[in-house]
Amino acid sequence: QQRAITPEKSDDDLQFDATLRPRALADYIGQEKIKGNLRLFIDAAKGRGEALDHVLLYGPPGLGKTTLANIVACEMGVNIKSTSGPVIERPGDLAAILTNLEPHDVLFIDEIHRLSHVVEEILYPAMEDFQLDIIIGQGPSARSIKLDLPRFTLVGATTRAGLLSSPLRDRFGVISRLEFYTEPELATIISRSSHILGMEIESQGAVELARRSRGTPRIANRLLRRVRDFAQVRANGVITRTVVQDTLKLLEIDEMGFDQMDRMILLTIIDKFTGGPVGLDTIAAAIGEESDTIEDVYEPFLIQNGFLNRTPRGRVATRAAYLHFDRIAPESPQG
Ligand code: ADP
Repeated sequence: QQRAITPEKSDDDLQFDATLRPRALADYIGQEKIKGNLRLFIDAAKGRGEALDHVLLYGPPGLGKTTLANIVACEMGVNIKSTSGPVIERPGDLAAILTNLEPHDVLFIDEIHRLSHVVEEILYPAMEDFQLDIIIGQGPSARSIKLDLPRFTLVGATTRAGLLSSPLRDRFGVISRLEFYTEPELATIISRSSHILGMEIESQGAVELARRSRGTPRIANRLLRRVRDFAQVRANGVITRTVVQDTLKLLEIDEMGFDQMDRMILLTIIDKFTGGPVGLDTIAAAIGEESDTIEDVYEPFLIQNGFLNRTPRGRVATRAAYLHFDRIAPESPQG
């Protein structure tokens, strides 16, 4: 079953995402520092008639990395080819993609930390010298060929920059971290999306929804879709604060924007492990979720908002977490 709140993409989202995705840098809300940098680098590259430097974008899912990659291509006036780490299985797959690029094109690789080692080795000279070094054939008849590639821009996206090998990371000229969005930024995104969807939304409704969207545009847009259904059926089509509150109650999303999984993670640490410290894998086993998913998808928001701490000995629930669940925090604050 699809949880409303997962920041990961579902098939359903793809169509929706495409409709709501801003196309120009000026329409991209928030992330002011990244936007400022990109504006400068894009204008400079265009002024020199060169390809833009390779760009690495990292941060939790749903914050707008794919959107930015598309905007970069659009602003540069070039094509974008999109793929992802796990899809490029063999060196030949990557070679086929690279040899099909036009000069200055953007190649977007999502989940770039999941590229296999052999594929990464092909990428190094491609990024650095725009050269393809590949061995074709096997055994005694194998031979190595070198091909010149057009100058292209690699835009890589990953949930955690720490997962990238350092030789790969070193080959990016621009490395930018996406931040969670503020409530006013999310409210603006929500109002913009409502407008595109032809929905009327009261500003209090947008603010309420923003507050519950875990700092993440993808979640904001996905919740908006649910709220829209509710508004159409029960509230004459207008999204008010009450409509938002009623919908989120149905979806079991609380005032902090926590869903069942957030609650399960925090309550497991509090109730089963006396607040921690407890290892990530132990938490994962206790709640039946992948460690990676907990770490990439759920933890960043909980940590940023002071509900969870990562310590060398494991995860710890903070005083704020105890308070949120009306539990009494242990005497010596562990967070
Ligand atoms: P990521 O690649 O980081 O997982 P996406 O780029 O797919 O995230 O963004 C998810 C959705 O959120 C997009 O379809 C877009 O509608 C919306 N979105 C993301 N960032 C912004 C932004 N800065 N302004 C407006 N909408 C955004």
